[in-house]
Amino acid sequence: MNNVFASQHPLVAHKISRLRDKNTEPKKFRELVREIAGLMAYEATADLLTSPRQVETPLATLEGAELKEKIGLVPILRAGLGMVEGFWELMPQAEVWHIGLYRDEQTLRPVEYYNKLPLEPTVSVCLILDPMLATGGSATATVEVLKRWGVKKIKFVGLIGAPEGIARMQREHPDVSIYLAAIDERLNNRGYILPGLGDAGDRQFGTG
Ligand code: URA
Repeated sequence: MNNVFASQHPLVAHKISRLRDKNTEPKKFRELVREIAGLMAYEATADLLTSPRQVETPLATLEGAELKEKIGLVPILRAGLGMVEGFWELMPQAEVWHIGLYRDEQTLRPVEYYNKLPLEPTVSVCLILDPMLATGGSATATVEVLKRWGVKKIKFVGLIGAPEGIARMQREHPDVSIYLAAIDERLNNRGYILPGLGDAGDRQFGTG
């Protein structure tokens, strides 16, 4: 799994375990999603390009750096929304674009119900955010929308991934790198990740 990054960081391991715990209440759950997202943001942006920028310190001048790439965050609704703040704390200029998709129960194909992307891409790199990479249906459909928009560099950032979703993304979009806090065993017959953490949307928004 060459373009799959699974965090080995002890802080991530600690926080993801608290997140999985069924006794973690929504307030703490949201806090953990935001914090782990920030740690994953650090990992997922390690190869962003910079340009030189001259900086004057109180003592001397040096050649520093500034981010060259414009970043777009694309949270998958609704659970991905909770990851945005963690990214924004580190990259407050990032644009957030929403794409609404649902699965047609007849065709099982994703249907777009919301897309206000302008004609031309306004960002050079898009980070798709979803805590759970389960079947990979929404994630791969979102990549398709972003590729049609013209974005060249796309990454997926999640908290927990199932081998099924990872395999699908790699099959359909081998150019998209995947960053995860943990990789779990498998999906159950209802499409939930095992052992996972349950429904990431319900647990954040208190609707479970
Ligand atoms: N979405 C979730 O919220 N949880 C899962 O386990 C799978 C998909």
